[in-house]
Amino acid sequence: MQIKLTPQQQEALAGYTAFVDQHVLPHADAWDQAEHTPPEIIAQMARHGYLGAVVPAERGGTGSDFITLGLLHGAIGRGCSSLRSLLTVHSMVAFTIDKWGSREHKARWLPALVSGELIGAFGLSEPAAGSDAARIQTTAVASGESYLLNGHKKWTTYGEIADLFLIFATSDNKPVAFLVERDTPGLEITPIRGMLGTRASQLAELKLTNCEVPKSNRIGGLGFGLALVATSALDIGRYSVAWGSVGILQACLDASLAYTRSREQFGAPLKDHQLIQQMIANMRVNHEAARLLCYQAGFLKDTADPDTVIQTWMAKYFASTHAMQAAIDAVQIHGANGCSPDYPVQRYFRDAKIMEIIEGSNQIQQITIANDAQRLV
Ligand SMILES: Cc1cc2nc3c(=O)[nH]c(=O)nc-3n(C[C@H](O)[C@H](O)[C@H](O)COP(=O)(O)OP(=O)(O)OC[C@H]3O[C@@H](n4cnc5c(N)ncnc54)[C@H](O)[C@@H]3O)c2cc1C
Repeated sequence: MQIKLTPQQQEALAGYTAFVDQHVLPHADAWDQAEHTPPEIIAQMARHGYLGAVVPAERGGTGSDFITLGLLHGAIGRGCSSLRSLLTVHSMVAFTIDKWGSREHKARWLPALVSGELIGAFGLSEPAAGSDAARIQTTAVASGESYLLNGHKKWTTYGEIADLFLIFATSDNKPVAFLVERDTPGLEITPIRGMLGTRASQLAELKLTNCEVPKSNRIGGLGFGLALVATSALDIGRYSVAWGSVGILQACLDASLAYTRSREQFGAPLKDHQLIQQMIANMRVNHEAARLLCYQAGFLKDTADPDTVIQTWMAKYFASTHAMQAAIDAVQIHGANGCSPDYPVQRYFRDAKIMEIIEGSNQIQQITIANDAQRLV
């Protein structure tokens, strides 16, 4: 068995790598410090087709296979986890419309999401409902041709700038999902500042007060908001975060290899000290293992194998925990420099912690993976 990218996938990866080296890596620390993503970089990603990678070509997207989609998210994640978060949530919304949306939803929103004219965001979490998403308290009450939404969403990535929100609520105690446009009366958006990591991802909280959404904006059937709509979107999000964590692992390895060649202590470059070599070796092996798990998850998605869901959980769990360890070691290798804003490893360290919390925290991953293992015996 040989794992090898096709020539098209190799070419796509080379393009993503060049894009990140030129347009992302040189600026990512400044975006992180400013807690802001410049609109120009988002427009550039749109021009390259990155915002529509998850949308099939016949509906105007790039129609990437899942391996290529993963390579894109991994490459952007190597440069900037915030920007990768944009790809994540935007792709989750576009994917959901493509999979569950009506013909009208697709015609109305997919072209604008692909072109970057609209940015999508994902509103599931609430102040009192995180891991236990079934406990959301946002309600949707039918009123004539509309629903009135009331509730409070928190931690909405790029909520500060997003134009179209995929919002989850309950209606008559049944989970339900809606597409809510930014300018809908009753939707109040408040930016969140000072997060630990992915600081440029312009999080916001959303207050919905008698927010009137046309019935036609409901996506998926009544009662299927969590089991189908959120679950399938979160699978894409988890896949993206798994690959983004592979990107952090790569970034930690790149930074540590460069630093240990140039920094000397005790009359020898750091790269020749065996305890340093141990950390580099672990980073390299874990990067490779995480990448292979992501390939496996992507291959199963491309072949429509339902096992992709648990493989994606495993890929995300392994990649995020090892991204965290690699970032801890990368800071250690850089010593005081690693704690300063002069080197990006402190950003990787902060961003890696976020990867262990979003799209299913470590503990939820462990519970899910262990329960699935029991199912198999
Ligand atoms: C930077 C960032 C961006 C985010 N972006 C979005 C977004 O765009 N949209 C969105 O909807 N949400 C978003 N979130 C929210 C994210 O999905 C939640 O943080 C996540 O689901 C965990 O929920 P929580 O933070 O409420 O933690 P909680 O669920 O309160 O959990 C707290 C701790 O308890 C642990 N825990 C929970 N249940 C169990 C259990 N049964 N057994 C053992 N341990 C348990 C958890 O692992 C965690 O360590 C974002 C969060 C962050 C930090």
